[in-house]
Amino acid sequence: MHKIGIIGGGQLGKMMILDAKRLDYYFVILDPTKNCPADSIADEHIVAGFDDVEAIKQLAAKVDVVTYEFEHINAQALQMLEQQGHKVYPSSETLLHIQNKLVQKDWLRKHDIPVPDYVKVGNIQEILEAGKTYGYPIILKTCTGGYDGKGNAVIRQESDVQEAFEALGAGKLPLMVEEFVPFEKEVSILVCRSANGDIQVFPVAENVHVNSILDETTVPAVISEDSTKEAMDIARKTVQVFGCCGMLCIELFVKKDGHILVNELAPRPHNSGHYTIEGCYTSQYENHIRAILGQPLGDSSLIRPTAMKNIIGQSNGVANVQGLEEAYERPGVKIHIYGKEKVAIGRKMGHITATAPTIEEALESVRYAYSKLRLL
Ligand code: ADP
Repeated sequence: MHKIGIIGGGQLGKMMILDAKRLDYYFVILDPTKNCPADSIADEHIVAGFDDVEAIKQLAAKVDVVTYEFEHINAQALQMLEQQGHKVYPSSETLLHIQNKLVQKDWLRKHDIPVPDYVKVGNIQEILEAGKTYGYPIILKTCTGGYDGKGNAVIRQESDVQEAFEALGAGKLPLMVEEFVPFEKEVSILVCRSANGDIQVFPVAENVHVNSILDETTVPAVISEDSTKEAMDIARKTVQVFGCCGMLCIELFVKKDGHILVNELAPRPHNSGHYTIEGCYTSQYENHIRAILGQPLGDSSLIRPTAMKNIIGQSNGVANVQGLEEAYERPGVKIHIYGKEKVAIGRKMGHITATAPTIEEALESVRYAYSKLRLL
């Protein structure tokens, strides 16, 4: 029986375990929160911080392969495991090329993968210079640690520079400026590479964010054939040049002229790929597990149009889901609740997926179900 270690016990880890339990694999998770989402279904839970090197070693000693469900972890600890002969996927090298947004963009650009213009900045003067070069608005980003838009500040004019610089740590964290892309759409593409070399590219998904948090995904993305082909080509090339093993999510901007730019990468299953559980023949979670075990990958094609809506906390308190019966009134609706004890504003508590003959019907179904659910 395969034994798999996951650093992180959130919803992504939980969904990996749910899929892999069909094969009766054994899971050990490492997460500082005792009642984290994956705790109820993991075989073992090491309650420790993500940077706790001793705990990471302990995890590796218990399993055949270590993976992780988010990228803000200690790459040196992963490197140490690799040197001691443990299998870690994605590798520490892949992670080091991705977890710093500046390093990631440098690597993409070096390999001729299209990205927005960007520049490293360290002080207000350099941000002002970037503003002159690109024209306002510009977007200031911390190179490390950002998620759900935390770590980004849109600067609309010169007079906003100081405030944005201070909001992002006043130079304590490494910073970069990007040109602001007036994109037509945000899409993402998921690609998986197995340790045995197999590659599967998932369909392009169209994403709508609210307050920088993913709100809805619809698949297939309504974009031209040329844009779709460009996204698929980028996916195949990116997974190779970063030497990825496992799932890779590539967030993309579709420009008004139909061409594609890469916004950012995540070397793991991704929120915008939740739809694959019901929408595709093989989910991103199953393919991730197959990939890190070096198995052949499953067919990632879409079964029929699919929509996904995140259930995001709108208040703070104890989570208690109500309204499931009404939410299930629409056929094709599947509800996922992650099991977080506390709801908080902006926190991802669950998601709803629906498949249907058309994207519009699938979207209508998830919105209907969402309107019937209450979190408190
Ligand atoms: P995070 O790592 O926090 O998810 P991102 O860098 O992906 O942050 O940015 C979050 C959102 O901000 C994106 O989904 C997009 O809507 C917007 N954004 C990011 N970079 C740019 C850019 N260069 N131009 C326009 N919008 C951007």
